[in-house]
Amino acid sequence: MTEESESSEQRASAQHEPAPTPEGRHGHAAPLPSIDQDAPHLFALQRDALREWCTERGMQRHNADQILDWVYRKACADPMRMTNLSKRNRDLLAQSMRFTTARPIDHRVASDGTQKLLMAWERGPAEATPTTLPMLNAVPVASGRQTECVMIPADPRRTACISSQLGCPVGCRFCASGIGGLEGNLTAGQIIEQVFHLSALDAVERISHVVFMGMGEPLANLSAVSDAIRTLHAEWGFGISARRITVSTVGLPTAIRRFCDFELPVTLALSLHAPNDEIRRNIIPWADFSTIEELLDACDEWFRRTGREITLEYILLGGVNDRLEHAEELAEHARRIHANVNLIRYNEVRGMPFQRPNSDGVLRFQEILRERGVNTHIRASRGRDIAAACGQLRHEHATASPR
Ligand code: SF4
Repeated sequence: MTEESESSEQRASAQHEPAPTPEGRHGHAAPLPSIDQDAPHLFALQRDALREWCTERGMQRHNADQILDWVYRKACADPMRMTNLSKRNRDLLAQSMRFTTARPIDHRVASDGTQKLLMAWERGPAEATPTTLPMLNAVPVASGRQTECVMIPADPRRTACISSQLGCPVGCRFCASGIGGLEGNLTAGQIIEQVFHLSALDAVERISHVVFMGMGEPLANLSAVSDAIRTLHAEWGFGISARRITVSTVGLPTAIRRFCDFELPVTLALSLHAPNDEIRRNIIPWADFSTIEELLDACDEWFRRTGREITLEYILLGGVNDRLEHAEELAEHARRIHANVNLIRYNEVRGMPFQRPNSDGVLRFQEILRERGVNTHIRASRGRDIAAACGQLRHEHATASPR
């Protein structure tokens, strides 16, 4: 969930840009040859699989490396512009490989440079993986369904905030993404494709950080998220350091323990959002499945097994979880598991009853945590004038016109 701080001037200066072309920064005007609808999705393929696909079709193994270079280094997903491939190979690719499968249908640029894309997916891919959590009953994404992704600039960083699911099964009472529940899991290819579209935006040379803080609960789509992280990290892919990839979870102890075995040293963030179980159950339906105590035990195991500190994410909701005694409770939890704390001032969502707390209260809340030795940051406010909070843009589209 991206954050804010706005003024009326900022609101006035937010821009609606024409949606970018699906081919990326190097898009072309000529129509492509018609494509086999069962063709593989380029963004779902790891390098070895692409090399195999190429050699099976009479291409050279190194052609796969050239294709990956165009896509991940040059932000070009138009095979007809891959000029170091032969004409025959370009035609073959155009007919037999799906590159971009999402259409950006809304593109907004905030006064602080944050950019948000609303993407409509072409169809539910056959390779969608079922969730390992039984209560979710996820299905592949259906044609035309929408997810969001955001690019947040903070020189020299370019952070991609991406979605892992269509909708969200958790249904936090303050979040627009949870409205309507879970509609489907994104595939690894669909997750990666979001980063591609963000990397192809103007003013983005290269994505340096990725946060799984968009729509969905990443650990409920662990197989696809794990594959996507491998491509984000790979030197033939986006080449992003694992420590610059953050997976944010609302937390199920078994899922966190399973994630301890993941081979790459990514950063884990726990969306705690409440100082005690009573408040947490009121705002996060999944809090019924585990107590804060059980979650902290799983986080403790993460710290012991991986040696990496965890971050506690805490959305401050005015009058709900922002009292000074709540800060004291939160400090106890953070100290117990050696966690940092990120405080996030709530962005109001139309139709939801929660309020944004005032700045003085937030600073006092932070002070209490710091006095107790907890490393605490107030997350910088970004993109509020373009509905950058999780699920907000999709919600605006859904409520503005009948689906
Ligand atoms: S805050 Fe995160 S976990 Fe909760 S409903 Fe929104 S996307 Fe899902």
